[in-house]
Amino acid sequence: MTLKEDEYLNEADGLLYCSKCHTPRQCRVQLGGKEFRPAIRCHCHQEAYELQEKERKQREFLEHISRLKASGLQDKALRDYNFSNDRGYNPEIRKAHEYVAHWKEMKEKCSVGTGRAGSDDQFRPHPEHPDRDVLQ
Ligand SMILES: [Zn+2]
Repeated sequence: MTLKEDEYLNEADGLLYCSKCHTPRQCRVQLGGKEFRPAIRCHCHQEAYELQEKERKQREFLEHISRLKASGLQDKALRDYNFSNDRGYNPEIRKAHEYVAHWKEMKEKCSVGTGRAGSDDQFRPHPEHPDRDVLQ
């Protein structure tokens, strides 16, 4: 067993101790009739570890906040984008929607008027001019 500079073997219990805080860096565990001496943190290592963890959590928290802020700005940008879309409502799209509604109505009237069902092909919007009324 090699000793580090800052530890010593306590002859009272045969475990490694920290030479700074004088608390054990090993513990005894009995498993299946065998004794193990897993390494544990001495008091000063534990304090250093806790400080590190606290700093890490603080850093993660700040990163989390900055991510939230960034996504908040992104949401705002998206809202603005949608808002401008609403204002600039595309009149061509509106025309196309009206045409489709109108087209269904025409098809129904035509079917009643002539006594035969209009075929779908007959009343389908012109592929290059979807806003053109094909029945006029
Ligand atoms: Zn220590």
